[in-house]
Amino acid sequence: MATPQPKKMTSAPDIARETIKQMAMRRVEPTPNNYEMIYYEIAGTPQKETLNNAIKKALKQLPNQSTEQANWINRWEKLLKQDNWAGLADVLNEGMDASVTQTKQWPDAIRQLLKGWDAKRIGVDPARKKETLERVLINYGNDPQLSVKLQNLANSWGANEAVASDAASMVSEDVDTPDALTTEASKTTSLLQKIDNKISGVMAAGNDETKQFHETFQILQDMLKQSLNHGLIPRLDGYPELREEALEVAVLTEKARKLKDWQFMAKQFRALLVRVELIGANEEGIKRDLLGLLKLLLSNISELVSDDQWLRGQVATVQTIISSPLDRVQIQAAEKSLKEVIYKQGMLKHSLIEAKNAFKTMISTFVDRLKYMADASGNYHEKIEVYADKLTETDDIIRINELLESLMHDTHAMQADIMRSREALLHQREEAESSQEKIKKLQEELTQLSEAVRMDQLTGVLNRRGLDDALTTEISRFSRGGGPLTLALLDIDNFKHLNDTYGHHVGDTALKHLANVVKKTIRPTDIVTRLGGEEFVILLPDTNIDEAIITMTRLQRSLTKEYFLGNNERLLITFSAGIALYKKDEEQTALIHRADQAMYLAKRSGKNKVMTEIDLAKFAQ
Ligand code: GH3
Ligand code: MG
Ligand code: MG
Repeated sequence: MATPQPKKMTSAPDIARETIKQMAMRRVEPTPNNYEMIYYEIAGTPQKETLNNAIKKALKQLPNQSTEQANWINRWEKLLKQDNWAGLADVLNEGMDASVTQTKQWPDAIRQLLKGWDAKRIGVDPARKKETLERVLINYGNDPQLSVKLQNLANSWGANEAVASDAASMVSEDVDTPDALTTEASKTTSLLQKIDNKISGVMAAGNDETKQFHETFQILQDMLKQSLNHGLIPRLDGYPELREEALEVAVLTEKARKLKDWQFMAKQFRALLVRVELIGANEEGIKRDLLGLLKLLLSNISELVSDDQWLRGQVATVQTIISSPLDRVQIQAAEKSLKEVIYKQGMLKHSLIEAKNAFKTMISTFVDRLKYMADASGNYHEKIEVYADKLTETDDIIRINELLESLMHDTHAMQADIMRSREALLHQREEAESSQEKIKKLQEELTQLSEAVRMDQLTGVLNRRGLDDALTTEISRFSRGGGPLTLALLDIDNFKHLNDTYGHHVGDTALKHLANVVKKTIRPTDIVTRLGGEEFVILLPDTNIDEAIITMTRLQRSLTKEYFLGNNERLLITFSAGIALYKKDEEQTALIHRADQAMYLAKRSGKNKVMTEIDLAKFAQ
C-alpha cells in the first residue's frame, strides 16, 4: 500500500503534529534528523543545511597534501561521525597554532632570504647561493621547518652575521648522490604546494610582502629553468627521447602558474629523473664492458701480430693507456699520435705493395724469357740435327758447302738470339735486385716507425717503454753469459729553476742538448733512454761499476765543455747520477730503484755528483 502523502500545512504546531504522525506511519527511527527531514517535507520548504553537512563539505575543499593537513581533516571527520564534540577545542587549537606560527615565520624567512641574497660574503657567490637554496628546498620541501631552514641558510650567506648556519652545514652534506636526487625530488610536489599556499596567503593579506614574495618565487622559478636548460638538458645529447622530455618539463616550468600546473610538472620531472638515473648506471656498465672488450681485442691482436713489427708499437700505446685510469686528455693525445703513425704507415704500406707487385711482374717476365730461350735452343738443336743428317747423307762438296753456309747463318742468328736474351736477363736481374733493395728499405722504415712509439719525441732517445725492451734484451744477453751490466740514472740539477728562469722552451732545448751530449760521449753499445721529465737512464753493457763511474764522470766533463745556449746565454747543465750493477735474476724495477736511491744520495750530498750503490751501503752503516 502506498504511503499517504502528507497534506501541505502552514501552521508550525500543525506541521509538528503531522510530522510525528508520519514518522509513526513510515516506521522510521525517531531521530532528530528524520524528524527534521519529514518536517520540511510537510512544510513544503527546502531543508536547512545542517552544520554537520556544511563542515563535511568544507573539509572536502581544504588542501590535504601534507601529513599534518590530512591528520587534521581526519580528526574533524571523526568528531563529526561520532557526533562527539568533546575534542573540538583541541582540534581547533592545533589548526590555530600551525597557522599562527607559519604566518609569523614566513615573512621573516623571506625577509632574511632577501637580505642574505644581497649580502656579500667571500666564497658565497650568487651561483653558490642558488645551489644551496635549491638543496635546502629539495631536502626540506616537505618539512614544516622549511621556513626555519631558509632563515638559517640566509644567515649562512651573511644575512645575519651573528647566527651560525645549520642549513649550510646540512647542504654541504652528501645530498647530491643519484639516489638522494631521486628520493629528494619526490618531495618537490609538497614544496610547490607550500609555496603556492604561501603565495595565496600573502596575496590575500595584501601586505607589503606580496612583492618580495613574488620576486623570491620568480628567482626560484628561474633557477629551476636554468638547472634544466644548462644543467640537465645539455647532458642528454645522446638520448634524444629523454632530451625531448626534459625540454617539455622546461616548458611546463616556464608556463606553470597554478598549484595543479606545478604538481603536474613535478610528476613529470620526477619520472624524468628516475630515467636519467637509470641511464647513468647503464653508461657506467657499458664503459666497463667496452674496456673489457678492448683489452681482450688488444691482447689477441698483439698475439697475432707478434712478427709484424709495424703494428706492435701502436698496440703497445693503446695498451698502456687503458691499463691506467682513463683520462680524456691522455686518450686524445694518444689518438692524435696514433692517427699520425697510422697515416705514415698507410703510405709506406702502399709503396711496399707497389714495389712487391713490380717485383712479381719482373719475375714472371724473367720466367717467360727463360721459357722462350729453352724453346729457341730446342729449335736450334733440332735444326743442327737436320744439318748433321744431311751432311752424312751427301758426299757432294758443293752440297756440303751449301749446308755449311746455312749452318753458319743459323748459328749466327742463334748466337745473336742468345746474346739478346742474356742481356735482357741481366737487365731484369738488376731491376729485381734494386726492387728487392727498395722493399728492404721500406720494411726498415716501417720498423723504425713502429719504434717511434718507443722513442721520446722531444729528445729522440728511447722512452720508458724503449728502456723496458732494451733492458730485457740486455738482461737476457747477460743471462747467456755476457759481461756485467750497469745502469746509471741521472737527474738534471735544479732543472725547475732553469725552467722558471728561462722558460719551458729553453728547458726543452736543454733536455735535447743533454741527450745529444750523452749520445756523443757513450760507446755505441751503450743505450740512452729518457725515463721521464729531466731523468735519463743509461744502460752500460759489459761495464762494471768502476768503468761506469768513469763514463759518467766523462759525461760531466763533456757537459762543462759543451756549453748550452739558452736565450743567447751560456748555461751550464749539471746532473746528479746513481749507478747500480745488475744482479742475476733481479727484477728490472729493483735495479732502477737502486740506481734511483744512489742518485738521491748524490742530490743529498750537494748535487753534481756520481754515487753508486756501494756509497749507499756505506751511508746506511
Ligand atoms: P733537483 O736538482 O733536486 O732535481 O731539482 P729539480 O728542479 O731539477 O727537480 P724537480 O723535480 O723539482 O723539478 C723538475 C722539473 O722538471 C719540474 C718540471 O716542470 C720540469 N720538467 C719535467 N719534464 C719537462 C719537460 O719535458 N720539459 C721541460 N721544459 N721541463 C720539464
Ligand atoms: Mg727529477
Ligand atoms: Mg732534477
